[in-house]
Amino acid sequence: IQWFPGHMTKARRMMEGQLRLVDVVVELLDARIPGSSINPMLRQMAGNKPRVIALNKMDMADPVKTEAWLLKLKQGGVPVCSIDCHTGKGVKQMISLVKEAARPITEKWLKKGVKNRDVRLMIVGVPNVGKSTLINRLAGQVKAIASDRPGVTKQKQWVNIARGLQLLDTPGVLWPKFEDPETGLHLALTGAVKDDIYDRRDALVLLLQEMLKKYPQQLAMFYHITLEPEDTAETVMEKIGAARGCVKAGGVLDMNKVEQMVLYEFKTAKMGRFTLDEPI
Ligand code: GDP
Repeated sequence: IQWFPGHMTKARRMMEGQLRLVDVVVELLDARIPGSSINPMLRQMAGNKPRVIALNKMDMADPVKTEAWLLKLKQGGVPVCSIDCHTGKGVKQMISLVKEAARPITEKWLKKGVKNRDVRLMIVGVPNVGKSTLINRLAGQVKAIASDRPGVTKQKQWVNIARGLQLLDTPGVLWPKFEDPETGLHLALTGAVKDDIYDRRDALVLLLQEMLKKYPQQLAMFYHITLEPEDTAETVMEKIGAARGCVKAGGVLDMNKVEQMVLYEFKTAKMGRFTLDEPI
């Protein structure tokens, strides 16, 4: 999806429609970029609706920084946990946070004499953050509750995922923020925005600058290069190119190849577990 204003308006309208159906919202953030993958519009749209934040892809993020992010977000007053949708780590805790967040609502229902009403939740987040993977994991083999309008294929479905808890089987897609170039490039580096709407060289330069600043040893070890204090993103690119034998005919370094390779190795966490956003 290309995010033009028209798309954002449509996504917003859809999200507002979905929000009306649920009691609790789970916002998935990418644990590598919690600050860049959070969408402040959600808070506006959700109003007073209880919100739980889950930092997904914790297996790809720097564990020390993830702890710091959890603390920071908790201090901001939002229930938060970290999860890994592939192994299911943290998902149980997420469910108990949802139940806890819903308690004021269920108590209100009880006071009104409403019994046996299920709490309904939905998963929202920017593209590629893992919404569908989480929904599939939560829904598992559970069959969606039959819709009362047979024949309507696009009908939303509710899935029982725990006692008293129903999940909307369609995720809410939030558009990525384009506030500043750094946010946009962080979203690009982790796969939330498509390759063709950002400059790959800009993304690589920013990535290498941040790696030099925050994770120089890991960078040097992974590529078997030696770093000097005066190294810049550009000199590091050359060192990586030489170390990996990225050369064109005539022995010239093939920078496009370096670009493609390093971005891929970061995005897929082959390089290691890193967090780009600082929890300040
Ligand atoms: P959506 O666009 O938000 O629905 O994202 P998807 O569910 O399609 O996931 C995008 C990619 O991230 C897929 O390749 C998933 O396998 C991967 N993914 C999802 N959750 C995790 C996770 O916790 N850890 C890792 N390493 N990858 C994940």
